[in-house]
Amino acid sequence: MKRIGLIGGMSWESSAEYYKILNEEVKNVLGGFNCAECILWSVNFEEIELYQRTNEWEKCGQILNNAAKNLEKAGAELIILCTNTMHKVSDLLLKDVSVPFLHIADMTADEILKEKIDIVGLLGTKYTMSEDFYKLKLIEKGISVIIPEEREQNIVNEIIYNELCKGIIKEKSRKEYIKIIDKMIKNGAEGIILGCTEIGLLIKQRDISVKIFDTTIIHAKKAVEAALKQ
Ligand code: GLU
Repeated sequence: MKRIGLIGGMSWESSAEYYKILNEEVKNVLGGFNCAECILWSVNFEEIELYQRTNEWEKCGQILNNAAKNLEKAGAELIILCTNTMHKVSDLLLKDVSVPFLHIADMTADEILKEKIDIVGLLGTKYTMSEDFYKLKLIEKGISVIIPEEREQNIVNEIIYNELCKGIIKEKSRKEYIKIIDKMIKNGAEGIILGCTEIGLLIKQRDISVKIFDTTIIHAKKAVEAALKQ
């Protein structure tokens, strides 16, 4: 089994989910007392969130690059970054890092293609929904992406930062999300990407009439698959 390096803390609410899924998945596959060999480098989200807001993404990149290098030094044999948004700086993160890196959007795109779905709705932070760094990964693979309109993007984003990243789960917010998702389905989405690693804390498959792609679950399971590959 390869040792998985996780760059987490963005937020720790979702990193905890990753840790749980990694261990459950290894147990599912190998049975017995098997669990994931992993190392978590957890950053302080206060600092990252500030640099996001002040548009100092290189600083975020440096912090994540330092994390990746330390994970490699500590013996990680593959690395995952436990947030969709911060993949915006994945090139900076990977500078002088040589262990394999599993990009969350690539892993998600592969799952969407497996389901033979062509059009997906994307939910995430405002950076993930409105900028190109994430969507292009999907579009390159032939997947069309629908995003909520600006007013709805703000609602989705506010709920992520003010509630989900702080471990606050509200029924009212679940309803808001379902309303926004249902509109994307009406507009043609055949599947919905939960493109923020905390959204799975709020929205489950039972809430939605089309297939959901929970990036936390997909990413963690793909990491296990890679770790167990001969
Ligand atoms: N975990 C979130 C994501 O998947 C948002 C927090 C962040 O800004 O990294 O995008």
